[in-house]
Amino acid sequence: MIERIIQWYKVNKRDLPWRKTTNPYKIWISEIILQQTRVNQGLSYYYRFIEKFPSLKDLANAEEKEVLLAWQSLGYYARARNLHKAAQQILTIHNGVFPNTYDELISLKGIGDYTASAIASFAFNKPHPAIDGNVCRVISRLFGIFEEINTTVGKRKITDISKEIIPKDDASTYNQAMMEMGALICLPKNPKCEECPVSIHCHAFQKNLQQELPRKKSKKPPKEIIMNYLVILNNEKPTILMQKRTSSAGIWQNMYEFPLWITPKPISHEALLSSDFFQTIIPTKEFSAKASPVFIKHQLTHQTLMTYFWIIKTDITTKAETYKTINHEKELQQYPIPRLIELFMEQKEKYFTF
Ligand code: SF4
Repeated sequence: MIERIIQWYKVNKRDLPWRKTTNPYKIWISEIILQQTRVNQGLSYYYRFIEKFPSLKDLANAEEKEVLLAWQSLGYYARARNLHKAAQQILTIHNGVFPNTYDELISLKGIGDYTASAIASFAFNKPHPAIDGNVCRVISRLFGIFEEINTTVGKRKITDISKEIIPKDDASTYNQAMMEMGALICLPKNPKCEECPVSIHCHAFQKNLQQELPRKKSKKPPKEIIMNYLVILNNEKPTILMQKRTSSAGIWQNMYEFPLWITPKPISHEALLSSDFFQTIIPTKEFSAKASPVFIKHQLTHQTLMTYFWIIKTDITTKAETYKTINHEKELQQYPIPRLIELFMEQKEKYFTF
């Protein structure tokens, strides 16, 4: 059965740059980017990132701000920070030589079981199954695994089967082939069973259980956070206030955003203007504010950000000691900003010129 999947892969595989290399650095970058986005969008990020940081040394020696900027729009910025830290670990602990064992790889910052297995197999052809969501689905359907695949028991079962079926002499092709099957044929909603090279062996196909498998335990719904951003514009000289998120807890560490007030529920215009938060930043009455804020709902993995952008125009110089004053849009491009702020800036022309 595995031989059939590998043969199918050799004929049908997509032509992707990271498949033409055994350079562990490039494979690593591609894997982390693909955890963030689909292949088509991931391609341009991959080329951009590799152009900016062509080698492990370039990445390790870069400023964190540069790495975050190159990662901008991909979201989940902890991954970019971890890439940077792991590159530095390889430089200092392994003298710049990319480790080639699973155990060394998994001890690096931000590298978990999947990524360690992917690098070990794609770059060094070591027999570690790389099990991502696509592979889980294929195995679950092929072998009729009814345990929930996001539980310890389900994961263990998928791993045990994978370890048994992976060809010890060509782990790299096997892993690529299984992922490609999941991406092109064994699709989540409508698997293309009529094109599948192993349908005669497939439990789900034989029993008509494709829609039943894989099973997943439902997760807790994401937490809703109410965010109020002040977009402060100085009329005299167009400026915008930004602050750096410094806390290592929570999201977007070391990225830039507008002054922020998190409230337990949505607030009124009056409540905002009379709040200590507002008055600490604009301690006079000389301002004009849009009565209704610009609203953007932004979904992260564990949080739904219900975000209100309050646009405040004022003639006075605001108390800006703790904030950066940005005077031009070009200047803003030097600062890594979260996707949420980018989304707002993309539609700013509707509300102000900057
Ligand atoms: Fe997936 Fe259908 Fe192939 Fe089974 S036969 S592995 S369900 S595509």
